[in-house]
Amino acid sequence: MADRHFAELLEIGSALKELGSEPNRTRLFITPIDSPVDGGDFNLSFRAAGTDADRSRKNRRWLRFIVGRPISCLHQVHSVRVLDLDQVLEGTAFKDEDTLAERLAPLQDEEADGQVTGRRDVALAAFSADCTPVAFVDEQDGIFGTCHSGRRGTEQNIVGAVVAAMRAKGAHPENISCWIGPHICGNCYETGEKIAKDFARQFPDIPRIATTRFGGPGIDIGAAIAAELRQAGVPMEHIHASDDSFVRECNERTGRTDFMAFCTLENPLLYSYREYTLTHRSRCNGRFALVLVP
Ligand SMILES: [Zn+2]
Repeated sequence: MADRHFAELLEIGSALKELGSEPNRTRLFITPIDSPVDGGDFNLSFRAAGTDADRSRKNRRWLRFIVGRPISCLHQVHSVRVLDLDQVLEGTAFKDEDTLAERLAPLQDEEADGQVTGRRDVALAAFSADCTPVAFVDEQDGIFGTCHSGRRGTEQNIVGAVVAAMRAKGAHPENISCWIGPHICGNCYETGEKIAKDFARQFPDIPRIATTRFGGPGIDIGAAIAAELRQAGVPMEHIHASDDSFVRECNERTGRTDFMAFCTLENPLLYSYREYTLTHRSRCNGRFALVLVP
């Protein structure tokens, strides 16, 4: 890894240890809104409105350089489709980086929201800007995954689909640990009456958000995802929805503690779709990534 730039990413340290990983083997991080390389924007999306595709392409190249291996990026469409990377990469020699990168490149147009692998020579990305990126680690069986679970993906249970795809590759749910990444929080995610009601009906066991800070009913996506993971057989103590080192790092970089680091709308270091639609500040317009490096 390119250590100087890597240090600028928001590394998930303490939660990862609890995921059962050997120190410094599997790594997990979130990309900040500012580029670790030149300080410009670090938007990784080709499709967010107003995106400068050349800049995003450059940012993805930089990210690969920083991570030190090819990264699999999907075209996320709020589906429950999970891609098995090992099928895509079948026959590609381990550590043949350029061939790997070549075979991964077309996946940026492949419509899917989850991906799984047993390989340790690729990194998995899940993009987000209010939706929830989730990482899946089964160190014992050597199977890994990521997904993008927004409201629609959560309603369709994409995380359950990822666990099923991991099982099909030999993972055991009781060995899987998950990290629920930053997303718009229940206090900020106002949805209107109908969506909130349907959501409450679908997830009767999680607390209802009667009033967000904007005054209307909302939903708690993170709590729903945790419920789905438990339903899929992931033990409760293996489901992590926080990380001390991430919070500390966000507080240090912003010089503030008056926001929730895990909420994309509140954390100024992360892209937020809702923030962009509220403010139309172009700086808020983009996607960050959760990157799992098995
Ligand atoms: Zn919030």
